[in-house]
Amino acid sequence: MTMPLMRPKRKNPVLRTPQMNLPPWSRSRVAMGLTVAAAEGRFALQVCAECGAVQYPPREACHACVSARLQWRQQSGEGRLIAATTLHHSNDLFFRERLPWRLGLVHLDSGPSLMLHLHGDVQAAGQRVRVTARLDRAGRAVVIALPDPETPYMNDDKVLREMGCDPRFRKVLVTDAKSATGLALVRALVKAGADIVWAGHAEPWKKMPGADDVAALPQVTRVALDLTDGRSVDELAGEIGGKVDIVINSAEVHRTYGIAARRGTDAARAEMDVNYFGLLRLAQAFGPALKGRSADGITHAVAWVNLLSIYALANFPPHGTFSASKAAAHSLAQCLRAEMRMAGIRVINVFPGPVDDEWNQNQPPPKLSPDALASAVVKALRDGAEDVYPGDVAQEWLERWRDDPRVLERELAAGG
Ligand SMILES: [Zn+2]
Repeated sequence: MTMPLMRPKRKNPVLRTPQMNLPPWSRSRVAMGLTVAAAEGRFALQVCAECGAVQYPPREACHACVSARLQWRQQSGEGRLIAATTLHHSNDLFFRERLPWRLGLVHLDSGPSLMLHLHGDVQAAGQRVRVTARLDRAGRAVVIALPDPETPYMNDDKVLREMGCDPRFRKVLVTDAKSATGLALVRALVKAGADIVWAGHAEPWKKMPGADDVAALPQVTRVALDLTDGRSVDELAGEIGGKVDIVINSAEVHRTYGIAARRGTDAARAEMDVNYFGLLRLAQAFGPALKGRSADGITHAVAWVNLLSIYALANFPPHGTFSASKAAAHSLAQCLRAEMRMAGIRVINVFPGPVDDEWNQNQPPPKLSPDALASAVVKALRDGAEDVYPGDVAQEWLERWRDDPRVLERELAAGG
């Protein structure tokens, strides 16, 4: 049985910081479909549209009827362990440092058999398992067999932890902890077992309702952080940059203007200065330190979370300049993801629908509560997901965007 994770000992500052080695990461274009689904927390395999055969590994044509009409479909992952083995030797640097490592062969109820990683609580051949896909430290999907039913402390398993970014015992920076979403995030992280939460506040002397209760929690330290001011960002990075394991960029400016509703560029500039340039300043100041500590002990640096918006995918004209700033931030976040991936740091992009806050007062329900958004962020960290679309509105927009982005643009222009 998995033993609960214990608080790691303090690091001896004299010892060297281990460098990260990524697991093997080259995949074919067609196999990337598995990664795209895993990035959203789903386990999908190709299913033949002609004969219904489920495929593994991913391929160009059906193994049963050679049809090229293969479609990615979500799978339950239910199956049975046929064989298990323990690896005691590997020429690969990543696995070498993590031996012994267990591998298994599972027969899925839906047909195919898979070679995969084994959770520590999956033991004897014949045992029922639930197979799922997770991203590994290189950001590529790998398959793992989990115990079915679930076991206590199963998230503390060594193999599973390599694939997630669990905030437990980690040190987290929330860049804007004064908003309703920021406060909810700080509370959720403390509940999830974070060791320290640095709660950023651009104007710490301003009193915000509820902020004092959160600041009084023993894990929480309030810090001054203004993303529009390069010096403020650099100063904080100098102070805590070498200790942060997870950065959650929750800072945003949100105004409700299109183009014609306002003269001048001041509101749009303020949005860009925080939503886009703020992310850039933060990434330049905190990115290198995070990358340098991605293999530093059990609670190494692990993730960067960007709170974007579903409006980043398609412009919502009543919030036109805000949408544009979030689209810019999304593009920059893709660059950040590519750069951080080589160090094994996961960049998680969160695309919520309208949040129930002061800037969406005129939006009809359903709206996402700040607590629901915070829970979605913690879940994404635990599962190691990369792309998160919390709430019904975000899910619905995503479906429509996937179906045809040009149709969605015209629907939004007509009012939704
Ligand atoms: Zn077929």
